[in-house]
Amino acid sequence: MLEIKNLHATIDDKPILKGIDLTIRPGEVHAIMGPNGAGKSTLSSVLAGKDGYEVTEGSILFDGQDLLEMDVEERARAGLLMGFQYPVEIPGVKNIYLLRAALNAKREAEGLGEIPAPEFMKLIRAKLAEMKMDSSFLQRAVNEGFSGGEKKRNEILQMLVLEPKLALLDEIDSGLDIDALRVVSEGVNSLRDGQRSILMVTHYQRLLDYIVPDQVHVLVDGRIVKSGDHTLAQQLEKTGYEGVVEGGQA
Ligand code: ADP
Ligand code: MG
Ligand code: MG
Repeated sequence: MLEIKNLHATIDDKPILKGIDLTIRPGEVHAIMGPNGAGKSTLSSVLAGKDGYEVTEGSILFDGQDLLEMDVEERARAGLLMGFQYPVEIPGVKNIYLLRAALNAKREAEGLGEIPAPEFMKLIRAKLAEMKMDSSFLQRAVNEGFSGGEKKRNEILQMLVLEPKLALLDEIDSGLDIDALRVVSEGVNSLRDGQRSILMVTHYQRLLDYIVPDQVHVLVDGRIVKSGDHTLAQQLEKTGYEGVVEGGQA
């Protein structure tokens, strides 16, 4: 699904990623943990193709295609979708229009026609119920006046509607209370179907009690210094990043 080799990236000529190797197979969930400023968000931004990052070395294959040759829209159409650490507000654009436009763009890329309105409404109502969201939410402008928890639910709702092949989730747990965390985690878990892959960035082990990853990677200063199964996250919780880095392979 995703094969990252020796990835180096800079922001304003400052090296941030310093040789990342990471392979995610179909159906796998990988968690990236690490201290503030390690480059976790930079990695997801580079994958999503956001502006302001320069890849200076290395390669990324996504579903057999050269990801670095694709622009942001091409990546999204190919099935790579990013949720935002701080989801953007789009004043005046109703949620329902954005969701429908995004879904139709995806369908077009797959050679399907526009989704008929009744079918879309049926789909969206099912997904809203899954995320325990009220349908009045559809008529509100994207993220405008949303609480932190509502923004996160909205992100996962998008994922449930668009069903990406690879979902990038950056700190979906920040600012969530326990109930919202559970709903959001269940939403993410319902994306797991043995085919879809998820790369999620998190500071806290708590999220990984709800979404149990296949692999955990510790990113420090632009490099993955340790990888392991989900028990690595628990170990990190006890020892902190320094303990794991010192005790483990570098
Ligand atoms: P993390 O998500 O692991 O906390 P980031 O990827 O956000 O880390 O940041 C990695 C490094 O890149 C930090 O040193 C940060 O200051 C720097 N950085 C991130 N975004 C920018 C930017 N837009 N301009 C300059 N430096 C940035
Ligand atoms: Mg940060
Ligand atoms: Mg970050």
